[in-house]
Amino acid sequence: MSLNDAINTLQNHGYKMTHRRKAIIKYFSTSDGYRTAKDLYEHMEAKYTGISYDTVYRNLHLFHDLDILESTSLNAEKHFRINCGDHHHHHFICNLCGGTKKLNICPMDDIGTLLKNYTIDDHKFEVYGLCPSCKQAS
Ligand SMILES: [Zn+2]
Ligand SMILES: [Zn+2]
Ligand SMILES: [Zn+2]
Repeated sequence: MSLNDAINTLQNHGYKMTHRRKAIIKYFSTSDGYRTAKDLYEHMEAKYTGISYDTVYRNLHLFHDLDILESTSLNAEKHFRINCGDHHHHHFICNLCGGTKKLNICPMDDIGTLLKNYTIDDHKFEVYGLCPSCKQAS
């Protein structure tokens, strides 16, 4: 999802576009990977002295509720990234830097035949490990 798509989504739901909200969306749209609430807070605090953790946290969850951000649990902590927004795919996720790589295949193409008489509502598929640059550094 681009910065403009995210801004449109927010405005279509009647939310005001503030500098802070724009900065949060920008943070996620320019970093291709999963980040924690703490990562975001540290980034925001450096820009907006005195901003409360609560404000950052509330906006983070607003964006998640509006599907501007998607989330996953990494190392038992919730991480967020910008919703890719394009056609269905999955991700490899680096356990160290949170970087992602798009996987343009879906295992459901095969699994679907094993669940012939079932109704499938949703599915989740993620691959975890080390990305090439983290692997080289370790
Ligand atoms: Zn993606
Ligand atoms: Zn990495
Ligand atoms: Zn899939």
